[in-house]
Amino acid sequence: MVLQDDALAYLLNFLCGLESEAAGSAARSPLRIGYTADPVEMERYDLVFVPSGFFTSGSYGSKESLPRFRLPEIEGIPFLFGSNRVERKGETLIVHADLPASAFCFLSRYEEFCHPEMRDLHGRFNARWSLLSANGFLSKPLVDEYTGLIKRLLQETGRKMPANGSSLSKLWLTHDVDAPFYCQGLRSFAREALKGKGLGTALRLAMRNPESDPYYTFQYFFDMDSFAASRCPFPVESIYFLKGGGGSVYDKPVYGLASEKMRHLLWAIRERGARIGLHGSYSSGKTGQVLKEKACLERAIGENVTLFRQHYLRSCEPCGFNSLEKAGIRDDFTMGYPDAAGFRLGTCRPVRWIDPACGRLSNLWLHPLAIMDNTLFQESYMGLSFAEAEEYCLRLVEQVRIHGGELCLLWHNNNVSVQDYPENPVPWIRLLYSVLIDCLCGSDR
Ligand SMILES: [Zn+2]
Repeated sequence: MVLQDDALAYLLNFLCGLESEAAGSAARSPLRIGYTADPVEMERYDLVFVPSGFFTSGSYGSKESLPRFRLPEIEGIPFLFGSNRVERKGETLIVHADLPASAFCFLSRYEEFCHPEMRDLHGRFNARWSLLSANGFLSKPLVDEYTGLIKRLLQETGRKMPANGSSLSKLWLTHDVDAPFYCQGLRSFAREALKGKGLGTALRLAMRNPESDPYYTFQYFFDMDSFAASRCPFPVESIYFLKGGGGSVYDKPVYGLASEKMRHLLWAIRERGARIGLHGSYSSGKTGQVLKEKACLERAIGENVTLFRQHYLRSCEPCGFNSLEKAGIRDDFTMGYPDAAGFRLGTCRPVRWIDPACGRLSNLWLHPLAIMDNTLFQESYMGLSFAEAEEYCLRLVEQVRIHGGELCLLWHNNNVSVQDYPENPVPWIRLLYSVLIDCLCGSDR
């Protein structure tokens, strides 16, 4: 596989923290960056990475192409290919660590592409199998560490490099609406009656006003997210991901978008200035049915949908990302590991996906998902206590701040209910959200 020219240019600029100044074009970059082993060609550049042969080797795409043993390091930062030699020839800084290939592996999820057999019950590649996790770099964005290293090396040669802002570039407050209401009408009536709650109680639960439903915690999110938007010194956007279909048992409860209750919710979301994205069903990635679900959501809200997250954070293998792009999705927010919070893409910056199957630079932006609520408390995932979760989350927030990246949080409406229902799993999930918002706003509310 050969990385296509625009993909290589984008990767080199991204690696050097120059992606916003020269998106997709090395020619316009203020820094001349080369990827070559040719000594004559090297003279044309300010910075050269020496290729390790990763992209041209016969083992590309196989498990054998990935390192299995202890990784080499520069200044304590591990990388996958090449050597730790750094030298200067004339005006050119030459880095023998193949940081472009290493960054490519994390940013494109090449590792998952090489290991299609490593999937959990839900078809997902787990954090515990990843190179990032094995090397203790899930809670630090490794590709952004490369960027910091390159900037330091260039500064040592006297070159001025743009500094990180020491602040988040953006905060995404996102909410997957898996179950908008605990009580959905007649079906809920039957369920509650079968639980032995008595016909009167069951009827009251099933028929009551949507805003008093235990899962209708949207007002809490509206208030918290508006507070964040008004107080944080960086842009804040709130997104509600809603389903547009789904037939798997894991898609239950299936909800229509045309009911009076849902129309009320859609109106309330938009009234508060939040955005609406598609929560792709359990099977949407592989079957390409994302187009159908997107059309269904668009009909309900009367506008184009370009934001996406897949239910269960299911595996987004190349075919999944390709079908998203074909369906007109511009921004994906699925890229977090379900079983461990952290930096699945090795970065906290939004990045254009490069297809590891053909080296093509896509128009699909991946927004790293750092923290999902379920990941923190579920016993089969991290199983943390409130104190442990707070400490871990604040460490991730600090990493995003240091690297000037985006922070994306995912909190579910049904996890922050304050009503006493057995489905309300962990009371501190709501408290943690408030703590994080306060911390991000610098508020002592
Ligand atoms: Zn979901």
